[in-house]
Amino acid sequence: MSRHLLVTNDFPPKVGGIQNYLYELWSRLEPDSFMVLTTDHQGADDFDRNVGFQVQRVKGPLLPTASLAKKIDELAEKFGADLILLDPALPLGMLGRRLHRPYGLVLHGAEVVIPSKIPALSGLLKGVMRDAKILIAAGRYPAQCAFDLLGDSTTDPVIQIVNPGVDVDRFAVASEMQKLEIRRELGLTEGLAVLFVSRLVPRKGADSLIKAMAMLNRDESPPQLWIVGSGRDKGRLSRLIERSGIDAVFLGKLSQDKLVALYGAADIFAMLCRNRWFGLEQEGFGIVFLEAQACGVPCLVGDSGGARDALEPGGSGFVLDNPRDAKSVSLALDTLIRNPELRLKMGSRARYFVESDFDYRKLADILKDAIDSVVLA
Ligand code: GDP
Repeated sequence: MSRHLLVTNDFPPKVGGIQNYLYELWSRLEPDSFMVLTTDHQGADDFDRNVGFQVQRVKGPLLPTASLAKKIDELAEKFGADLILLDPALPLGMLGRRLHRPYGLVLHGAEVVIPSKIPALSGLLKGVMRDAKILIAAGRYPAQCAFDLLGDSTTDPVIQIVNPGVDVDRFAVASEMQKLEIRRELGLTEGLAVLFVSRLVPRKGADSLIKAMAMLNRDESPPQLWIVGSGRDKGRLSRLIERSGIDAVFLGKLSQDKLVALYGAADIFAMLCRNRWFGLEQEGFGIVFLEAQACGVPCLVGDSGGARDALEPGGSGFVLDNPRDAKSVSLALDTLIRNPELRLKMGSRARYFVESDFDYRKLADILKDAIDSVVLA
C-alpha cells in the first residue's frame, strides 16, 4: 500500500465544491494510506475527531513558504509518505520542487484555467505541472487545460481525470409520498416544478431560466420555479420575476436533507451556466447536475466549461449551446413539460448514467489506482 500526504487549503468543515470533492474521495480511501494537512477552521476539532483518518491543521492560508516546506517534509517523513499532493496548483504547488519527496497536484477548474491564459502566469504554472509526478484533474476541462499547457514538454506527468461525483445512496429517487411531503412542508405547488440550485451569480444563468419560463404557453398550467441558493444577484432576479409574472419561489439556503428531498420532488432541473469575461469564467463541472440526475430528474444544462460532461446529452437531459438565448431554453423546457414519458425515460437514464460513471466509490478506486501507479511504479 502506498502512502501520501494531501496538503490543501480547502477541506471541510469549510463548505464548498472543492472541499466536498476532496472529502468525498479521500474519505473513501484506506484511512492509513494518507493523511491531510490543511488549515484551521471553526468546528474542525469535532470534524477531525470523527473522520477516521489523520488530519493536521495549521493557521491558514497555506502559502509556498520555506517554513511550510519544512513542515511538510517533517510530516511526510514521520508518516512515511511516498508522495505529496498539493492543492491548489498555484501558489501552493510552487512548493513542490522544494520538497524532499515527489509531488502531485490536484486541479479543479478556474484556479488553473485562468492562470493558463495569462502569459505572466502560464509559464509558472507549466513549470509547476511539468515537474509533478501526477496531475489529478477534477474533470476533462482542467485535464485539457493541463494537456494544452504541457504540450511540448518532455517530462510528462501522469494526467488522471477523477471526475466529481455524487453519493448515490444519499441522492436517490424519491417515492410519491416523499415528493408530496417536502412540497407540503415548504408550501410548494403539487403541480409541475422546475428546480434551480446554485449560487445566485450571473454566470449560473437563473435569469435565462426566468425569461424562458415567461415565454412558455400560459394557456396550460405553467410550472412553478424553485430557486435554491443565495447570492448577490437575488435583487435583480426578484425584479425579473416580478416583471415576468411567473410563479417562482426563492427557498434560500437549505439544509442538506431538505435539498436532497427537493431534488427528488422536482420534475425538471435547470441551470443555464454560461461563460463570462471572454471565457475566463466558466463552469468547472456542475455537481448540481449529478445530484439532480442521481434523484432521477432530467436536466437542462448550459454549455460552459466542463458542464456538458455532467450529463448524457439527449439521454439524461439537454445541453443548451447558447444558454443566454431564452427562446431556445424555453423550447427545451416546453419539450420536457409536454412529454411526461420523455421526462420519465430521461430521468431513469439519468440515474443509470450517474450510477455507472459518477458513484464516488468507483471514482475513489480510480484515484487510488492512479496514486499507486505513480508511487509503486
Ligand atoms: P460551484 O458553487 O460553482 O462549486 O457549483 P457546483 O454545482 O459544482 O456545486 C455546488 C454545491 O453546493 C452542490 O453540491 C450543491 O448541492 C451545494 N449547494 C448549493 N446551494 C445549496 C444550499 O442551499 N444548501 C445545501 N445544503 N447545499 C447547497
